[in-house]
Amino acid sequence: KSFEELGLDPRLIRALTKKGIEKPTPIQQSAIPFILEGKDVVARAKTGSGKTLAYLLPLLQKLFSDSGSKKKSAPSAFVLVPSRELCQQVYTEVSSLIELCRVQLKAVQLTSSMTPSDMRNALAGLPEILVTTPACIPKCFADGVLDPAAITDSLEFLVLDEADLLLSYGYEDNLRSVTSKIPRRCQCLLMSATTSSDVEKLKKLILHNPVVLTL
Ligand code: AMP
Repeated sequence: KSFEELGLDPRLIRALTKKGIEKPTPIQQSAIPFILEGKDVVARAKTGSGKTLAYLLPLLQKLFSDSGSKKKSAPSAFVLVPSRELCQQVYTEVSSLIELCRVQLKAVQLTSSMTPSDMRNALAGLPEILVTTPACIPKCFADGVLDPAAITDSLEFLVLDEADLLLSYGYEDNLRSVTSKIPRRCQCLLMSATTSSDVEKLKKLILHNPVVLTL
């Protein structure tokens, strides 16, 4: 199937064309329609499979229809990744799509190397999308940069990318500081290269009747 047949917004398709991306990868083929439908999704997907766009494209599309509505006090979408490098990569990818689509959306990244005032400045523009690492979240709470109650009020999408690594780095307690704030309406997506018992536990904890994709 083409991106169009998957139900993707023409603005996103045009942005992809500008990036030289014409045809969806298998993980994109299977994940995008379910995510657009609002389903929680677990996908077993490796780096290089196109997993980042598999969640970023439908996530952006869902935010398109929200944009124009009143800005929230905390981001609507959290993307949690296990490393600063991946944080930078995902942030760069999502920012370039936003720019190419010319939509009024804003993404920021927060990493634990930033000072509380850097973080506050980043969040001052009321971004819809926050890309960060689990280690950063308790720090944000402690420094008053993010308000846990505002997250529960605002959160619509949570992506756990490379969930197996998110857990293996001993991030589990840090992750819990976010997962305990997830409101019921929040759509959760979990990407993982492997399925361990820890990933299974996390899946049970945060996902509701997820679609499970193994490719
Ligand atoms: P990922 O698996 O998300 O780390 O993506 C690996 C690389 O594949 C990235 O550089 C993407 O830009 C590229 N990519 C993602 N989707 C496609 C696609 N449908 N066609 C060609 N390249 C893609």
